[in-house]
Amino acid sequence: TFITFEGGDGAGKTTQAELLSAWCAERGREVVRTREPGGTPLGVEVRRLLLHGGDAIGAVDPRAEALLYAADRAQHVAAVVRPALDRGAVVVQDRYIDSSLAYQGAGRVLDPAEVRGLSEWAVQGLWPHLTVLLDIAPAAAAARRAARGGTADRLEAEAEAFHRAVRDGFLALAAAEPERYLVLDATRPAAELHAAITARVAELDGA
Ligand code: C5P
Ligand code: MG
Repeated sequence: TFITFEGGDGAGKTTQAELLSAWCAERGREVVRTREPGGTPLGVEVRRLLLHGGDAIGAVDPRAEALLYAADRAQHVAAVVRPALDRGAVVVQDRYIDSSLAYQGAGRVLDPAEVRGLSEWAVQGLWPHLTVLLDIAPAAAAARRAARGGTADRLEAEAEAFHRAVRDGFLALAAAEPERYLVLDATRPAAELHAAITARVAELDGA
């Protein structure tokens, strides 16, 4: 079973992914908890370049950026996700193709259909059984990130218009594929979100 979490930075993806992983493990499933970008040794290097490359990298062309995310994803699916699914594990993952459609497609100048084609090629057509979208307004997400502290990545410097386009991109993806998506208001209490997520995952049994 392949479950992905999507949403803006600060939406609470990691918290919910960890709660769900524990819930699945309690039910006797092998759980592989992973993320993109950065779910493999190659991916860790790609992630560092993309998010913390700094002045040594300079401005990254949108096509180059999309290809780097696709390279991270290809390696991750080949080395981690597909082997896990093949042995019957539950894969609980932060971000997947939908992030590329929202960030490199809706957020940038690239044609979302082309980004989709690139992503599907990278993963040989593997899509999740369920994608949980933790929806949050950009201003609320920014406030959470500020409260959490830590080091800012390259994307946090983007204008609010970029983050609004990304959010709208995620919502449009969810509206187009309601069977795959569960959309939740990320400002609800974590325990309520977790309950809503496990209720939906329980329906997936057999996947
Ligand atoms: O969620 P996480 O902190 O791992 O995301 C890393 C960063 O990469 C975030 O700033 C996110 O906006 C960005 N990202 C992106 N395009 C993707 C995946 C992540 O711009 N396809
Ligand atoms: Mg982050």
